[in-house]
Amino acid sequence: MMKTTNRTQDTTDRKQRKKPAGPAFKKVCNFCKKEQEIDYKNLELMSNYVSSKGKIVSRRISGNCAKHQRKVAREIKRARFLALLPYVGN
Ligand SMILES: [Zn+2]
Repeated sequence: MMKTTNRTQDTTDRKQRKKPAGPAFKKVCNFCKKEQEIDYKNLELMSNYVSSKGKIVSRRISGNCAKHQRKVAREIKRARFLALLPYVGN
C-alpha cells in the first residue's frame, strides 16, 4: 500500500523549505571583540557606521550586537546634532 500524504507531512515539508538568504558567516560585533569606547568625538569610527547617504548602517549590515548598535546610533545622533556628521549625505 502506498503512503498517504497527510497534514503532518505537509508541515514537515514546509520546514524543509529554503531559508531566506542571509550572511554566509556569522558576524561578530566589533565592539564586543575588543573593548572600544563608542564616542561621538571619534569621527573616524562613527563614519564607519554611516552610509554615504548619511544613514545609520543597520545591524544586519554592520554586524553589531543590539547593545552596541544602540550605542552607535545614539552617538551618531549626538554627532549629527553637533554637526560633526551630516543628517543627509550626497
Ligand atoms: Zn557588541
